[in-house]
Amino acid sequence: MKNLDQSQKFIFDNSAIRGQVVHLNQAYQDVISKHNYPDKIKHCLGQFLASVTALSSTLKFEGSLILQARSEGQVTLMMAECKNQEFVRAICHFNDNFDEDEPLFKNGTLALTLEPLSGKSYQSLIVLNENNIAAGIEDYYYQSEQIKTRFHLSVNNTQASAMMIQAMPLSADNSSLTIEDETYNRVSHLFSTLKDDELLSLSNQEILYRLFHEEEVRTFEAQPLSFKCGCSRERCENAVLNLGYEDAKALIQEQGKISIDCQMCNQHYSFKDSDLSTIFELPIN
Ligand SMILES: [Zn+2]
Repeated sequence: MKNLDQSQKFIFDNSAIRGQVVHLNQAYQDVISKHNYPDKIKHCLGQFLASVTALSSTLKFEGSLILQARSEGQVTLMMAECKNQEFVRAICHFNDNFDEDEPLFKNGTLALTLEPLSGKSYQSLIVLNENNIAAGIEDYYYQSEQIKTRFHLSVNNTQASAMMIQAMPLSADNSSLTIEDETYNRVSHLFSTLKDDELLSLSNQEILYRLFHEEEVRTFEAQPLSFKCGCSRERCENAVLNLGYEDAKALIQEQGKISIDCQMCNQHYSFKDSDLSTIFELPIN
């Protein structure tokens, strides 16, 4: 059975290599259905979402991992976020006169931001190549963390998937280092044979068997993934509260209501005159 909307970790027994397989199905469809995106953007958003979800599996704290590109090309902003290794959301801003023959990104930057629930956030830059986002991520891990990583991204109309293998940080012992390198090279070579339709259509067990049946691979319990936006009526009430009573009242008189739209998920929130008394806790007269 296919692993829908799941993230699953696996390790290679007897060697310091870990891996992750991510499939976003309903979660991906929820993200792309919120806006009217051209196909090329849907595809790229899927890659961003699957990447950030797979990368978030390596985090050891609660919080968000955000992959964000800014550019002067067809896409001005693309952002995908995975929170607590479970909830995803993403958004793209693009030119009104979208031309699919033009590159999505021009003079772009790609940043990976760690946002722990408590503590400071941390940002690093990744080389942005829209034709090969996976290669950019592999390079980033090797250049900045000295961690050998392989990444494969596959997206179709209904699913965004990522598979990753990663050599865990090396021990100081040189003799084991050579053995580890040999194993990694073998596993990495097998990983290269993975095809898009395999990653998109097979179950994780089938994928792992097809690639690594001569290795000893152990899987962990798969974790559910879903689309969830951080917006809420309560948060919007706070925004109204920050306006101050007089300004909020004036705005309602002018426009009939206060409208707040979430850019991420298109959820619409509106506040009428009668809502103000609750928000500002005024006595009803
Ligand atoms: Zn929202």
